[in-house]
Amino acid sequence: TLPVVAVVGRPNVGKSTLVNRILGRREAVVQDVPGVTRDRVSYDADWNGRSFVLVDTGGWAPDAKGLAQQIAEQAEMAIAMADAVLLVVDGTVGTLDSDQAVVRVLRKSKKPVVLAVNKVDDQRTEAEASSMWNLGLGEPYPVSALHGRGSGDLLDAILDTL
Ligand code: GDP
Ligand code: MG
Repeated sequence: TLPVVAVVGRPNVGKSTLVNRILGRREAVVQDVPGVTRDRVSYDADWNGRSFVLVDTGGWAPDAKGLAQQIAEQAEMAIAMADAVLLVVDGTVGTLDSDQAVVRVLRKSKKPVVLAVNKVDDQRTEAEASSMWNLGLGEPYPVSALHGRGSGDLLDAILDTL
């Protein structure tokens, strides 16, 4: 069976855009309206001749009751089903409380975690990516899912964990 990589992060950070970038095709639905909770969807992906399954976990409802609970559940689910977790944060916004909640769950898990700092569309936002070292999840990989910037290095890092 193929290794599974689950993509987690709060709504609108660009998880689905990144999934499409990795797939090389537009299959994951990109939402311009943040916070639309959807079921997780699995896709077959390849990189450098290696196959894996990529799971786009959708999001949690930002204004729902029990937000912290929903976030923790999403992360726990990803950890339970995946061989590696790809955490996506938004480099233009920085981290919010809900990112921190996911980080806490992921740091406690034994599963490898790769940290992608998305929306780093140009050099100017790269400093924001470096500041994500303080999440304690290892090297932050700056990427622009929209333009493809950094996605090769990110994929190499993901495959290294599998
Ligand atoms: P998700 O909710 O985490 O799956 O986020 P989506 O993939 O649906 O993207 C949310 C919004 O962010 C959309 O308007 C995307 O076009 C935009 N977006 C995604 N990746 C990037 C990026 O690398 N740079 C910029 N500037 N916008 C992005
Ligand atoms: Mg999405």
